[in-house]
Amino acid sequence: MIIRKPGIYKLDEINDYLASPNMSNAQSQYARKEPVILHVDMDAFFASVEQKERPWLVGKPVVVGGDPQKRHGVVAAASYAAREYGIKAGMPLLTAKRLCPHAIFLIGTDGDKYEYVSSHLLGIFYQFTPQVEPYSIDEAFLDITGCERLFGPPAQLAKRLKEKIKKQLGLSCSVGIAPNKLLAKLASSLNKPDGLTLISRDKIKEILSPLEVTKLCGIGDKTERVLSSLGIHTLGELASYPVEVLKRKFGKNGEWLHLVANGIDCSPVFSQIMPEKSMGHQRTLPEDITQPEDINSVLLALSSMVARRLREKRFVGRTITLRVRYSDFVSLTRSETIARPTCSEHIIFRVAQKLGLGLVAGIRRVRLLGLSVSHLTRDRQSLQTSLPFVEYIDKRKRIYSVMDRIRDRFGEESIRWAGATTFV
Ligand SMILES: [Mg+2]
Repeated sequence: MIIRKPGIYKLDEINDYLASPNMSNAQSQYARKEPVILHVDMDAFFASVEQKERPWLVGKPVVVGGDPQKRHGVVAAASYAAREYGIKAGMPLLTAKRLCPHAIFLIGTDGDKYEYVSSHLLGIFYQFTPQVEPYSIDEAFLDITGCERLFGPPAQLAKRLKEKIKKQLGLSCSVGIAPNKLLAKLASSLNKPDGLTLISRDKIKEILSPLEVTKLCGIGDKTERVLSSLGIHTLGELASYPVEVLKRKFGKNGEWLHLVANGIDCSPVFSQIMPEKSMGHQRTLPEDITQPEDINSVLLALSSMVARRLREKRFVGRTITLRVRYSDFVSLTRSETIARPTCSEHIIFRVAQKLGLGLVAGIRRVRLLGLSVSHLTRDRQSLQTSLPFVEYIDKRKRIYSVMDRIRDRFGEESIRWAGATTFV
């Protein structure tokens, strides 16, 4: 077996690793119920999704981010072939173009597509543990402590997870396994792409010591410059530096630097188990109505209320259910499931309107209308606020967010869509 770094194994070595005597050590270590945290990071996510969809792009330098002719765009993702030219995420597109003029530049405006893949990914994670913390559109922490009985040792689980993602989404990812989030995130970055890296407790010092300080999540260029002025370049140097001096130099962060350089991190995995299965609103109308335009006016108001609540709680949903109660107290419901989860009142309204056509024929008097959205998932985009799509601005989303802010300040009835009824 080839071991690149102590305690670090690549996927192709993992079979040997699982059968090796090391494994029994690791197993007994995990049997003590020490936390086992996984960090999953998709490889060149946006570029890989594009390549999956357009196979002729596979193996080519692909840069997602926008039009390289435009001044301010930055690279959202670069395929591994593009990285060979030195192209990196966050780099100005103009620089990328200079480094590799023949690269294929994709605008990458279809945020919905990436979100869709991302929510599918989340679904796969939940098949292994309910303790999942999405970290960005293509990264998540999974707390798999105590999952051995179901899935075997952590490395085995990670391998199955990788295979599942490959099979279902056709995408590769890198996984890090460690006793905490900090080290798991580091581990996943050590053997990209398609890596599977384990940092066991007894190897922490050995692995961390020679690494540059910026390898750790949270230590940026600014901190690096100050550290370097103190003669600190590696994590080993930082770990043994007097914490008092660090505190004087960095304030509260000084202590944090000392802890992370020693591989210590106690932050829990914030799982997002859905507390709510559906969200909805219903209203008994001030007087019975029969006219389609009156019905639509109520449906638009309800759509707007439901969508606002979804956005507030950062959910999106796929199934829209309309409930009608007639003046004779007979109730009927109709549902429709759409392809992509949404929190847009226009999409919800469009579906509600369609469902309404079948239920409200203009003869029966309607007494109550209710609208709900179920099949909820987390709104992935709200999790990744710094999505580097400079050019991806959905006008409607901006209108929604302005309306939400107005309502936050001046009340729910302070603004509404033309044509929507009011329930005051
Ligand atoms: Mg990634």
